[in-house]
Amino acid sequence: MNSASQIPLPQAILLTLQKVLSDRKGFVGLHEPRFAGREADYLMDCLDSTYVSSVGAYVDRFEAMLAEVVGVEHAVATANGTAALHVALRLAEVGRDDEVLMPALTFVGTANAVTYQGAVPHFVESDPENLGMDANALAGYLAEIAEPTGGTFRNRETGRRLAALLPVHVFGHPADMEALAEVTARYRLPIIEDAAESLGSSYKGRMTGGLGLLGAMSFNGNKVVTTGGGGAILTNDTALARAAKHLTTTAKLPHSWDFVHDQIGYNYRMPNLNAALGCAQLEQLPGFLEAKRRLAARYAEAFAGLEGVTLVAEPAYAKSNWWLNALLLDESQSELRDSILATTNDAGIMTRPVWRLLHRLPMFQACPRMSLDTTQSLESRLINLPSSAFLGEADAPS
Ligand SMILES: *Cc1c(COP(=O)(O)O)cnc(C)c1O
Repeated sequence: MNSASQIPLPQAILLTLQKVLSDRKGFVGLHEPRFAGREADYLMDCLDSTYVSSVGAYVDRFEAMLAEVVGVEHAVATANGTAALHVALRLAEVGRDDEVLMPALTFVGTANAVTYQGAVPHFVESDPENLGMDANALAGYLAEIAEPTGGTFRNRETGRRLAALLPVHVFGHPADMEALAEVTARYRLPIIEDAAESLGSSYKGRMTGGLGLLGAMSFNGNKVVTTGGGGAILTNDTALARAAKHLTTTAKLPHSWDFVHDQIGYNYRMPNLNAALGCAQLEQLPGFLEAKRRLAARYAEAFAGLEGVTLVAEPAYAKSNWWLNALLLDESQSELRDSILATTNDAGIMTRPVWRLLHRLPMFQACPRMSLDTTQSLESRLINLPSSAFLGEADAPS
C-alpha cells in the first residue's frame, strides 16, 4: 500500500498520472500525432508535383512501405479505415442478410462497415485479458446456434448465414488469433482483421493486419501513424489485392482516355497528399513504438502500488504497439469510473471511457448477440490514459 491509497481513488489516480506526465504543461490529449520527421518536405514535394489527389508516387510508396512493415504481399491505401473494412468485407463475399461475428467492444466503424454490405453484426463476448473476442466463449456459443447448410453454417435462431469473423485488436493488443482461427476453421468463416488500432503489434511473432484473409488499418489522426485521414486493405492474395484496388478506384478499367467502369465501385482511394504525410510517419514508426512501450512501462511502474486498479497488460503471446493505455478498475471500484474521468479531465489530463457498447446503440440494439456479461463489466471499468508517443520519448522524466 502506498501513500496514494490513503486518499480517494480519483485523486490517487490523478496524482499518479501527474507524476508520470510531470513535465507536460497544459492540456494532455489522449493520443496526439507527432510530426518530427520529413512530413513538411514530402508535403511540399507533393504540392510541387501537382499530384495531390488519388494518383501519385506517394500512394505507391506508402503502400509498399506499409506492406513491408506488416509483412504482407499487398497493401491498398484507402480514404479511411472504415472504407477499408467495407471493401474487405465485400471482397470476402459478405453480403445482404449475412451475419458477421464481431465484438461489441469496438469503435462504431467496425459495425458500420458490416451494415454497408447489407449484413448484420452479431456481437461476441470479449476476453478480459486481451480485450478481443473470447474464443472459448465463442466456440461454446456457436456449438449451440450454428447449423450446417450446404457448405456453410447459419444461425439457427435467425436463419441467416454466418459469413465471417471480424476480430478487433482492441487498443493495439492482439486478440488470440490462433484460438479464434480454430473456431473459424470449424465453421468455415473467413477472418477479416480489424487492425485499425494495431499497426506494429505482433501475434506470436507475426504482425497483425496480415493474419486473416484480409486486414484493415486506419491512419486517422488519433492512431499510431496518421495520414490525416486514411486506411489500408492488407492481404497476401494477389487477386483480392487487385480487386481491392479496382473497387476503391470507382471500378474504372485502365484506359488512356475513356471512362469505362465495369461495376459499382467506390471513390475510396487515399489522396497522394495524405500518402506523403503517411510516408514520413511510417519512417518514424520504430521510434513511436519504442516511446509508447517506454510510456506503458512508466504507467505500469507508477500504478503498481495503487489498490483498486490494474493496467491492461500486453498478452503473453503478443507484442503490443501500446496504442492506448488502459486502467481497469476493480469491480468494487466501478462506481467511481465517472468521478475518475471527471477529476482527470478537469485537471487537464484527458482520459475517456471505452466506447459505448455497440449493442446498446439504437441502430444495433436488435442485432443478434451472445451473453455479453464480461464485455459489460469491462465497459463499466475501463479508462483510457494519455498515450501519445511523445509522452514516452527518452528525454521525458521517468
Ligand atoms: C479507428 C478505427 C476504425 C475506423 O477507422 P477510420 O479511419 O476512423 O474510419 C475501425 N475500427 C477500429 C477498431 C478503430 O479504432
